Amino acid sequence: MIDLRSDTVTRPSPPMLAAMAAADTGDDVYGEDPTANALEQRVAAMLGHEAGLFTTTGSLANILGVRAWVAPGKELLCEAQAHIVRAELGAHAALNGVTTRTWFHPRGKVDLAAVRALVAPDAGPYLVSTAAIAVENTHNFAGGTVQALDELTSLRQAVHGTGVRLHLDGARLWNAQVATGVPAAEYASVFDSVSVCLSKGLGAPVGSVLVGPADMIAEARQWRKRLGGGWRQAGVLAAAGLYALDHHVDRLAEDHAHARMVAEVVNDAAPGVVDPASVETNIVLLNVGDRAERLVAEAREAGVLVGVVGPGIVRLITHLDVGAGESRKAAEVLGAVLSR
Ligand SMILES: *Cc1c(COP(=O)(O)O)cnc(C)c1O
Repeated sequence: MIDLRSDTVTRPSPPMLAAMAAADTGDDVYGEDPTANALEQRVAAMLGHEAGLFTTTGSLANILGVRAWVAPGKELLCEAQAHIVRAELGAHAALNGVTTRTWFHPRGKVDLAAVRALVAPDAGPYLVSTAAIAVENTHNFAGGTVQALDELTSLRQAVHGTGVRLHLDGARLWNAQVATGVPAAEYASVFDSVSVCLSKGLGAPVGSVLVGPADMIAEARQWRKRLGGGWRQAGVLAAAGLYALDHHVDRLAEDHAHARMVAEVVNDAAPGVVDPASVETNIVLLNVGDRAERLVAEAREAGVLVGVVGPGIVRLITHLDVGAGESRKAAEVLGAVLSR
């Protein structure tokens, strides 16, 4: 099977497993796991923030980041297709009393005019007050799109002096860095807190890191434990993250090239399904209308796994376990099904 449902499906490679087996460990709830500590410090330094917290999932990193800035009953603004509002099962509301309002952008981008119209830092006794804004970079359900740095900087200027905080869901922030050449730290410098995933394109089996100010991260550490996310010899997993940061960042360019190639092959076979020029990173959205379910089923029969992520939208994501040859083969299968 060629599995393009997500970049989370990668398996740890033999050298990554060797790094995990060799990890120096301790009890992380006591703050004594040297490898987890090293990972947290490294990611914080890479992103130019004071401190980091290693978490099981990107969802947990977002939950802890948003919780830090948004008190119960206050609101978070984000784009309508954001992972935070679509794919975290209502955690921010269910656990932390966070309400949300959204703007919509077809490519998941920051829309400054829309944000300006929504943001209400001090809405008084009748309306909900805005406490934070979350931005996703790259944007998953919008097709791996990259946020423009100058738009983010304008967003920062727009909330200057209002007390409204900015959180970056950077599950695929390194994809943005590799696609544009803008260092992840530059994107991260715009935000009060940032979450990044090690288990997406970077290929670690488990783990994300939340970075932000030291006092905020210290409190997030307590909330992580409160939510049942304290862990003990986490260094075994942190070692995979460190290995991924050493070996799997620059190679994301290969995934991007494969995604573009897949889009070209599929669009040649079934014109209009995807604009190859719209593929910015490792995610391809195929606009297939009422053929979505049939495409997924027939591709599966032919050995290719893809998923439906919206009405008529089939998503495929390239990753380090699928090379150029397999990517091409998958594209040919998808093209053949769509041109039948
Ligand atoms: C995958 C993802 C996350 C985190 O997902 P988990 O499965 O909880 O690790 C967060 N944000 C975005 C944009 C993602 O794609």
